[in-house]
This record gives sequence, C-alpha cells and structure tokens, in this order.
Amino acid sequence: MFGVTSSDLGIDLGTCNTIICMRNKGIVLNEPSVVAVERGTKRIIAVGQDAKRMLSKTPEGILTIRPLRDGVIADLESTEKMIRFFIARVLPRYRFVKPRMVIGIPSSITQVERRAVEESAYKAGARDVVVIEESLAAAIGADIPIYEPAGHMICDIGGGTTEISVISLSGMVVTDSIRVGGDAFDTAIIKYIKNVHNLIIGQPMAEYLKIEIGNATPGENLDEVEVKGTNAANGLPQRFKIGSDEIRDALRDPINEIVESVKQILGKTPPELAADIVERGIVMTGGGALLRGLDRHLAAETGVPVFIAEDPMNCVALGAGKYYDFMKGSDNSKAAYDSINR
Ligand code: ADP
Ligand code: MG
Repeated sequence: MFGVTSSDLGIDLGTCNTIICMRNKGIVLNEPSVVAVERGTKRIIAVGQDAKRMLSKTPEGILTIRPLRDGVIADLESTEKMIRFFIARVLPRYRFVKPRMVIGIPSSITQVERRAVEESAYKAGARDVVVIEESLAAAIGADIPIYEPAGHMICDIGGGTTEISVISLSGMVVTDSIRVGGDAFDTAIIKYIKNVHNLIIGQPMAEYLKIEIGNATPGENLDEVEVKGTNAANGLPQRFKIGSDEIRDALRDPINEIVESVKQILGKTPPELAADIVERGIVMTGGGALLRGLDRHLAAETGVPVFIAEDPMNCVALGAGKYYDFMKGSDNSKAAYDSINR
C-alpha cells in the first residue's frame, strides 16, 4: 500500500542554493543556503529564503551567513541546523519508514565536515545516509552514462566553486575544484563598475546585470540596461547605462580561470579518455552554466564541444535522488562478479 522508500531524498547542499528531490515527487525544495542567527546566543532566526531577504539589511544583533559560501563549511553548527531544517520541511509528518538520503557536497569539504553533514541527516530522521561528491551527482542528474568505460567531463559552475571532473566507470579519474563561480562573477562586476565608472553597486544589482546582459561570447551584444548606484566620489545616488560588452570585460578574469582549469584537467586526462571527451563533449551544470555564451566560449577556447545539461541547476539534486537506483544496478553486477569469483 505504501511505497516503502517513497520519501527517499536526494539533497544538493550547494554554496548558493539547497535543492531537495524526493523520490516519486521530483524537486520538493529549492532555497538559498543562508541562515540568520542571533549574535551571541547563535539562536537561528531564519533559514533559506527568509534569511536571504535579511542579507545586507540586518540590524546590529543579527548575523546572516552563507555557511558553505566558498565550498568549505564556515560555520558547522548553523550548517547542521540548516540541513535539519530543510529536511524537516519536506518530510511527511507521519511516516512508517525512515527515508534514505543521498547528499551531494562540494569536494573541498573536509572529512570532519563530511561526517557532520552525515550526522545532521541522521538527526533529521534518515535511516541511511550517503554523502557523495557533487560532480558525480551532477553527472548522474545530467543523464550521463557514467558507468561506461568511457571518459565523460562534467563542469559544474556553482556560486562559490567550479568543479571539473572526468568520470569513467562511475568513478572520478581527474578532478579539480576552484573557488571561482557565480559569486566571483558578481564581485568582478562590482569591481569593474567601481574602477571604470566610479560607482558603487551591491551584489543583487551585479547579479541582475550578469543574468540580464552578461554574455561570454564576443560580438553578441544585448541591449543596455540602466544601473542605479552610488557615486564613489560624492556618495550621491546616480543612474547610468551599461552594455553587455562591458560586463564581458568585467568577467574576463574569472571566466579565464574556469577555461584554464578545464584545459588543465584535459591535459591531465589519460589520452584514451580525452579522446572520448573530444567526441562526446563537455557537459556543463550549475547556475553558472546559464551565463549566456559561456558554452560557446569554452568550446572555442578548448576545441571541444560543450553542452549545457537540461535543467542545469537541478542536476545535483536529481542525480542524488537517482543514486540508489543507480547503485542498485551496479550492486547487481557486483553480486554477479562476486558469485563467479567465489
Ligand atoms: P550552488 O550549487 O553553488 O548552490 P547554483 O548551481 O545554484 O550554485 O548556482 C548559483 C549561481 O548561478 C549564482 O551565482 C547565480 O547568480 C548564478 N546564475 C543563476 N542563473 C543564472 C543565469 N541565468 N546566468 C548566469 N548566472 C546565473
Ligand atoms: Mg551546485
């Protein structure tokens, strides 16, 4: 009558967003990875969207944090509470069977932090927890046949980090994580506008510009948009127009870092697998993959075809959600091998 494992969860613990996928239901939660705590007592005041609204608008006594901002856990205690809060939000109130959970985390997280993440999931009511590298989850979510003996490259551009991995036979062959992603894009735009126009803008405005008119491929300019900022010289509010060629200039360094990192990984990939990648292409996931023209720019710079996964921002959660089914397949073959080798 009841699906025994119907509430199994796949969780993407991202630097910007936490996304949860429930078996048989799909994506059931998508919230910013942000917590607001009371200074001193460390009592949690708000989590997710509610906490994000408080960012940069907090009074003295409140501290808003993005605990995973740079791909490492800045504050373990609030991270644990955030995980437990999100899980509690999506689990059915009355259930007979405890769910299993698969959690995708940035690869830069330490062993201690990894165990803490695991522990929080158990505290939230899991009967079994698996913590996996988000590259692997992203690849499964992007429907890449990673169990094949062939090379696949996945480039996941999140908020705080970009993770580039070559996967073959369900394992990571070469991998690298750099602290460059959507946040670095925003910071670069803020810096450019300050340097070139002597105007100060906030992160939300920078992100808006990136999404609206950002374009990594030269020669494809979109309309200009009007920006509101503060004049750095006299502190007065000011409006001015900016176009996508300027945003591209602003993003040159962080984009280059990603391109260089992809090239490095290609260089470290065994030739047989590299040949597979040249043939099959690089798959991009994560919110940063949505930066206009980044796929074409990366393809032009590396000479390898580049594809954006379908639903790039949900790949890690979807892949984590599919992980058990995925492993069941390989468990069967493992059992078969065990039986002939006995
Ligand atoms: P994480 O996995 O680290 O939580 P996400 O994969 O959720 O990160 O991606 C978040 C980042 O993607 C943010 O920096 C956000 O600004 C950026 N982003 C979202 N949509 C777009 C878009 N259309 N163009 C460019 N960047 C985008
Ligand atoms: Mg991510």
